Amino acid sequence: MPTNKEDLKEYFAKSFPKVRVGIGQDSHRFLPMDSSKPCIIAGIIFDEAPGLAADSDGDVVFHSICNAITSITGVPILGGIAIDLCSKDGITDSQVYLEEALETLGSIRIQHVALTIEAKRPRLQESNLVMRQKIADVMGLKVDQVGLTATSGDGLTDFGCGDGLQCFCILTTVEL
Ligand SMILES: [Zn+2]
Repeated sequence: MPTNKEDLKEYFAKSFPKVRVGIGQDSHRFLPMDSSKPCIIAGIIFDEAPGLAADSDGDVVFHSICNAITSITGVPILGGIAIDLCSKDGITDSQVYLEEALETLGSIRIQHVALTIEAKRPRLQESNLVMRQKIADVMGLKVDQVGLTATSGDGLTDFGCGDGLQCFCILTTVEL
């Protein structure tokens, strides 16, 4: 270990990665049951629920991750890059927005993604691993770096009553 003050500073900067924690939220209301738009959550189609009211596919999981990335980088994705992709290029697939968001991280590496969805419908429990695997694949992570829970919150909110979906994301990142 160096003894000189400046060298010590550099030594510690190199030895300990810079950790940042981001937070993101997103929510959308369900369309009527007879809507032809598919319900897409974490890139997975759920047949037993209608689509979500949004210019895009309304994927609350991918949107909340985008917002968590923005909370770290300061680069607007849903309020910026995604609006252009949607209105100018007609891209409604939120996976594309997330891929663009990941690009803005530069040398910042994602260590863990924690997600929680508040919903009454569709049933998410059986698809937990499928959703985690999809999120991991899109983000270039291992499945054990993605945690996902879902709750109806005892029906205390509009989400828990089945009117829409809400998702929160906490993102842990490191920069060497
Ligand atoms: Zn959204």
